[in-house]
Amino acid sequence: MSEIKYKRVLLKLSGEALAGENKAGISAEVVEDITNQIKQMIELGVQVAVVVGGGNFWRGKYGYNMEKTTSDHMGMLATTINALALQDALESKGIFTRVQTAIEMREIAEPYIRRKAVKHLEKGRVVIFACGTGNTHFTTDTGAALRAAEVNAEVILVAKTIDGVYSADPKVDPTAVKYDKISYMDVLNKDLKVMDATAISLCRENNIPLVVFAMNDSTNMIKAVKGENVGTIVSD
Ligand code: UDP
Repeated sequence: MSEIKYKRVLLKLSGEALAGENKAGISAEVVEDITNQIKQMIELGVQVAVVVGGGNFWRGKYGYNMEKTTSDHMGMLATTINALALQDALESKGIFTRVQTAIEMREIAEPYIRRKAVKHLEKGRVVIFACGTGNTHFTTDTGAALRAAEVNAEVILVAKTIDGVYSADPKVDPTAVKYDKISYMDVLNKDLKVMDATAISLCRENNIPLVVFAMNDSTNMIKAVKGENVGTIVSD
């Protein structure tokens, strides 16, 4: 237990991350890898909450001729598909889980109730939050920041397809440099692609650090909860 730096973490998984190389849908390989890492964290005694994105199926902006609200509702439904996939994979490994949705779907998941979520976490269950904030015009990044603040997570683990926060997109700009540490304000002022600005502001206000790391190294999550340097830390 002493080797853990963070006792309660919130893991943000984007839809893109879950899609793996296919870029859409759900990659069984990725889900296998992520759920193995979550299992290791649980076995270490870490309380794990997860916020899943939905971009591997739908994002609000894809419905450019649609009413934005409808398109965002579709996006939130997409996050629920991912939450159920993750739940199924975790339960098949003997990990107890609950999915809580910010929009009620009582037949398939619990509605989001903060006190229940905290109880589940204390009992060692992985709580998977779906539907982001439950409000249109927001993202699951903001959902992650909000839920992390609400359940008093000590850190947000941001699993990315890239291994940290860079000064520019390293795929486009070869002079881009990676930061080991960066402040919330620098992320906002430099408009760096970590999470959207609303999410970063919420983390800043609540003093919740972010650890941004590459998900293609399956040792990163465990290292991150032990406080090892795995990518970039965003904090004050
Ligand atoms: N969404 C929303 N409100 C929220 C969270 C998500 O309306 O609080 C919708 C929005 O349309 C978004 C989509 O759900 O584009 C999928 O979420 P997101 O884009 O954050 O997923 P990710 O990029 O993490 O895969």
